[in-house]
Amino acid sequence: MIRLSRVTLREINLALIEPFQTSAGVVDKRRIVLVELANADGIEAWSECVAEALPTYSSETVDTCWLALTEWLVPDALGRAFPTPQSARAALDRNVRGHRMAKAAIEMGIWAMAASQRGLPLAALLAGESAHADKPGTGPRDVVETGIALGIQQTPAAIATRSQKAMAEGYRRIKLKIEPGRDVEFVKAATRAINGRASLSVDANCSYTLDNQAHVRALEELDSLGLAMIEQPLHHDDLVHHAELQRRLTTPICLDESISSEADVEAMLTLRSARVVNIKPGRVGGFAQAIAIHDRCAGAGVPVWCGGMYESGIGRAYNVALASLPNFSEPGDLSPSARYWARDVVTPPWMMDENGMVRVPLDKPGLGVDIDAGLIDDLTVRRVSFDV
Ligand code: MG
Repeated sequence: MIRLSRVTLREINLALIEPFQTSAGVVDKRRIVLVELANADGIEAWSECVAEALPTYSSETVDTCWLALTEWLVPDALGRAFPTPQSARAALDRNVRGHRMAKAAIEMGIWAMAASQRGLPLAALLAGESAHADKPGTGPRDVVETGIALGIQQTPAAIATRSQKAMAEGYRRIKLKIEPGRDVEFVKAATRAINGRASLSVDANCSYTLDNQAHVRALEELDSLGLAMIEQPLHHDDLVHHAELQRRLTTPICLDESISSEADVEAMLTLRSARVVNIKPGRVGGFAQAIAIHDRCAGAGVPVWCGGMYESGIGRAYNVALASLPNFSEPGDLSPSARYWARDVVTPPWMMDENGMVRVPLDKPGLGVDIDAGLIDDLTVRRVSFDV
């Protein structure tokens, strides 16, 4: 039984080591909403909302999540009895549609609090809830394979250099962001640089359409390059055209933005829109939905992997725990802290070994990392607390 007695929301601004360019300008810091949950026994859990500053990946943003959390979700969750962490999902869905990233921040915090209460590492608690983790030898892994997503570069030569560097660092899978006009030649350059020594995939973030012949030709050329997968080539609402494209391609399509729920997975399986799913627990409303999608995909023989949203070390802890489930059979976007942050908000920071593996903390209850509350205080730009 979990009953929240206090919830504190903060927005922190965490400086990125490497600023990145978007259509809206240069982003040099990540605005992140953190949630601090506490119960009457003094058990605390920190969680993270993965929404970004702008509605480019998702319709949710830092500010819409702040609104949803402060106006509806936190007041409704506070003081309510959650018999199990699984029960949080229905409670959060009862009066609020959508707002999945905002809901996930509360829901996943409740899972972490339950893990601490039961003296279990978060990964072990999740494994106990998955129908596909209860067989001998299929509990949580103690290490997870890590991949890297490389942003669009100015030239094919630049992406080749970046790919070589990522391979030298140990990453098991290299994923290139692509867009029309910066695709085939860039991927060929990376393919030559990697020379079969790491798995290579691409992510188009919805930027192609089957109405455009140049787009179709590019997708057909990409299909001939032996990629592990082509992620989210078409519009996020369009499972039908993804199915049409998948029929024409040999390369598996992976869906990311298109999958917000188990119902979306059912539609994907029925239409045969894709053969791989990228699960981000924030995108689907939290762990209950993420585990359900994991299990449904496992039953259908569809591999899944864990995507990333430029999380701090707190969000990373949740992703690493989820990625330890058995059907996460492709490397996740679980880069170590040092890729993004000069100093992470957790200790120890997340590390990756030279073989591209991140250790799952199975030796401690809860998240398995300590929160640097002093640093978080220094980075906080707004804060609000709710008590019962
Ligand atoms: Mg993606």
